[in-house]
Amino acid sequence: MKLSVAIDGPAGAGKSTIAKMVGDRFNLMYINTGSMYRAITLSALEKSISYEDVDGLCELMNDLDMEFQNDELILNGENINNKLTLPDISANVSNYAAVLEVREKLVHLQRKMSEKYNVIMDGRDIGTVVLKDAPFKFYLTASPEERANRRYNELQRKNIDVNYDKILEEIKKRDYIDSHREINPLTKAEDAIEIDTTSMTVDEVVNVISKHISSNLDRIIIKRGNDIQ
Ligand code: C5P
Repeated sequence: MKLSVAIDGPAGAGKSTIAKMVGDRFNLMYINTGSMYRAITLSALEKSISYEDVDGLCELMNDLDMEFQNDELILNGENINNKLTLPDISANVSNYAAVLEVREKLVHLQRKMSEKYNVIMDGRDIGTVVLKDAPFKFYLTASPEERANRRYNELQRKNIDVNYDKILEEIKKRDYIDSHREINPLTKAEDAIEIDTTSMTVDEVVNVISKHISSNLDRIIIKRGNDIQ
């Protein structure tokens, strides 16, 4: 039995930064599931495959090999992480992520990873679908303005030319599509702990999550038969 931690929430709530840090503390493999949806979007856009072309997408996905190394996604042997947060990918990813066949393929891959490794996984449907039985589930939120502000600063640091209002608009649009889609919409799992990070520092959020994991870890290990390796 492997240990798993699920982190969900809307775009820009701080999931990836926080999941990485908590993962380091507890020696968990960090799986950024958003980057998997982004990788499919990148490949599809490069090959001009629309999100409405389901056959084309299925064919494309058959040729895609994804793995994580040092928290980064490797697609067919290539590290594509610097391309994944480009505005064009962010603007299109939610449409590709709403396709049933895309979700089935990625959820299957994510579950296989969680069977092989102790993981901390972030996304939209981790606590509700992918790792439904995870003993630790957190749902991070923040106001849309604060989330847009964080995205803006992140892209500026990467020297990507961006406009704050456009980012805010895109975040709101993505929130809407992600939480209204038919298949596995973004929603808080009933047993997830919700943390509003709007006025918290990254360290404060990491500490709240880490404290909760530390103080419940023994109980979880005993409940699962002492066999977490
Ligand atoms: O986490 P990030 O913002 O990089 O995710 C990009 C997009 O991928 C989300 O807006 C959502 O449409 C999709 N996604 C998803 N399910 C996940 C992770 C991401 O639908 N588990």
